[in-house]
Amino acid sequence: MKSLRFVGNSKIEVIDVPEPKPTQDQVVINIKVSALCGSEMGAFYSPNGLPGNPGHEFAGEVVDPNGHPEFQVGDRVGAHVIVGCGRCVQCEAGNEIFCPDFLPSGAAHAERIALSARYCLRIPDGMDWDTGVLVAGDAMGVAYHLTQRVGVQAHDTVAVFGCGPVGLGVVALWSFLGARVIGVDMSPYRLALAEKLGAWKTVEAGKKTTIDRLRKLTGGAGPDTCLECTGKPAAVAAAFEAARKGGKVGIVGEQDQASFNPSRDLIHKELNVYGAWYFRLSEFAGMVELCNRGLKPRKVVTHRFPLEEAQKGYDLMAQQKCGKVLFVQY
Ligand SMILES: [Zn+2]
Repeated sequence: MKSLRFVGNSKIEVIDVPEPKPTQDQVVINIKVSALCGSEMGAFYSPNGLPGNPGHEFAGEVVDPNGHPEFQVGDRVGAHVIVGCGRCVQCEAGNEIFCPDFLPSGAAHAERIALSARYCLRIPDGMDWDTGVLVAGDAMGVAYHLTQRVGVQAHDTVAVFGCGPVGLGVVALWSFLGARVIGVDMSPYRLALAEKLGAWKTVEAGKKTTIDRLRKLTGGAGPDTCLECTGKPAAVAAAFEAARKGGKVGIVGEQDQASFNPSRDLIHKELNVYGAWYFRLSEFAGMVELCNRGLKPRKVVTHRFPLEEAQKGYDLMAQQKCGKVLFVQY
């Protein structure tokens, strides 16, 4: 079957690999759509490459239930890709992401994949594949989980630092739910996308005036909530500085180091700070229900390519000239 390989130095090739062999707890899925995630870009740029690909957002049809009676051929599923041991205290509490033995599922930019049956999320019949991969993937799943962690409310003004796929997911979700969302990004292309997805205002990032603009838009106080979705230290610092006194900061952008001014930005403001990583199985139903009620996450998608043209998708991500990019096989 077809798959992708990260050759190294920003090159992708389409390769032929053996069919997945499911273990006892797995089913085999015919992938209809996989989504490109910003977290793949480090491996994309690396000179070393990978033996395969780090794709981890996908949806498709069960093609081999492998003896699992709860599934039939043709069932439509998305994936929770952090697969826990299922036996430890964390797994039993529904916190698979904290399982000491969790395994991330990968190589999802391919024709088929094997996934633990317990982590297959049923996509409702009326839901299109694009929406399915978003709610069972990072763009909506991580955006939803982040804002659940932080406790965003409809009357909040929320500044989203970084209008890449996850940031745009937050913009779409909370504009739909009634909050005033301010998109903050350096890319005019992405700020325009944020506006299209319902952002109340947009502010150019990385300027001397960025924080002032955010304060002016919020009556001088600063946003109630600042969400860092870029993975850039400067955005972490700006989020801490911009948040209003007693406000909240949520950080989801992966990075090794960042700094802020503890006295000015944390202690005297008594900020509440949250980290968030990946959504819980229990959160999937809520996201599906919001889509039933009119949330349209697929507006986050700007480009679709067949697997054979994957290089174009990664090049677009490198140039930041896109929202969510999908590899479609439907
Ligand atoms: Zn476990």
